[in-house]
Amino acid sequence: MAGRLGVGGPPFLCPKTFRLCHGPSAGLPPTPDTWQIRTPVRNTSDINVVETRALPSPAKLLTELPKTEAQADFVARSREDIHRIIFTDDRRFLLLVGPCSIHDVEAGRDYARKLAALAGEVADRVMIVMRVYFEKPRTTVGWKGLIMDPHLDGSHDIAAGLRLARTFLRDVLDAGLPTATELLDPITPQYIADLICWSAVGARTTESQTHRQMASGLSMPLGFKNGTDGSIQTAINAIKAAAQPQTFLGIGLDGAASAVVTRGNPNCHLVLRGGIPGPNYSPVHIAQTEQLLAKAGLPKSILVDCSHDNSAKQPERQPEVMRAILAQITAGNTSIMGAMVESNLGAGSQAFPQPRANLRYGVSITDACIDWATTEALVREIHAVLAPRFA
Ligand code: PEP
Ligand code: MN
Repeated sequence: MAGRLGVGGPPFLCPKTFRLCHGPSAGLPPTPDTWQIRTPVRNTSDINVVETRALPSPAKLLTELPKTEAQADFVARSREDIHRIIFTDDRRFLLLVGPCSIHDVEAGRDYARKLAALAGEVADRVMIVMRVYFEKPRTTVGWKGLIMDPHLDGSHDIAAGLRLARTFLRDVLDAGLPTATELLDPITPQYIADLICWSAVGARTTESQTHRQMASGLSMPLGFKNGTDGSIQTAINAIKAAAQPQTFLGIGLDGAASAVVTRGNPNCHLVLRGGIPGPNYSPVHIAQTEQLLAKAGLPKSILVDCSHDNSAKQPERQPEVMRAILAQITAGNTSIMGAMVESNLGAGSQAFPQPRANLRYGVSITDACIDWATTEALVREIHAVLAPRFA
């Protein structure tokens, strides 16, 4: 009788129902009296998962693509320099400049060579750090960056992406430039963070506990951007959370799921990038921000992103934003310690996706940028305007 527990015998697959049954002792055919149809446990997980691809462990990638002693020294020294600009009396201007995202490492290397030469010329007053952004948070959907989709074709070869990212970071360091990135996926840092001098947590993730926890364990200075809604308090809360010890889920160097226990990162600061209500770099916004920082017991140290909602996503307006903050500095402001600019070899952006062969060299496939000539002129202008500070 269905529902009665069968006796003896191991479980077997009923040839009629294809369900797991418990039958009588071996050798005897099951009868309705002696076996019971067990409804199989319904599958409740991985229903929307097509595939789970194992990746090389961070340890494997770090061994395969190690950093040299010179690269490690350069990263450590650059982080110390950035720390001094953010928190102490180092009065150099911190300029985070480069493409919105790296999609073509050849063009990226070309850009790095030009930027390195320029950085050397202005180093006495401006510390230049190259944006080397591999992970792109999307408002809805779109290409998620070189780590997630290095072949730009939706194949999402993440292992190749991680290798490409490490290789490119080493190239930029070898060119003599410190590296800046946005860390988006909390597993990524294990693979690349040893080669990064400054990191952002972006506007879409500043409020995320996961990202605040991640930041609390990172070794480099890190900027939290205000939220896309314009909220500065969100980023201030993030700075406070990231400064505290945290325990969270992550992976170890061997790739095993782990409880990660952190000390807290005391090197976090605020980045103003504008928001839905509009730009937030005006003297009024800066004064309000200084008050919020003081109220939170944090140092008055602000980096202004000239792009994104501060330029209403019109890249050619970035120099205008830069001039406005330089004017505040000239007028005596001491809380603005640096800026961010989205710049590439060519101006603007190009539609993506499209066949790789059709892409224009050195032009962004994410946010629109200013071109190299405009970048070079702007950097020289910053250097000139800051002269009185160092006189
Ligand atoms: C970026 O820096 O390219 C970026 C995505 O910034 P935000 O988080 O401010 O949008
Ligand atoms: Mn961008």
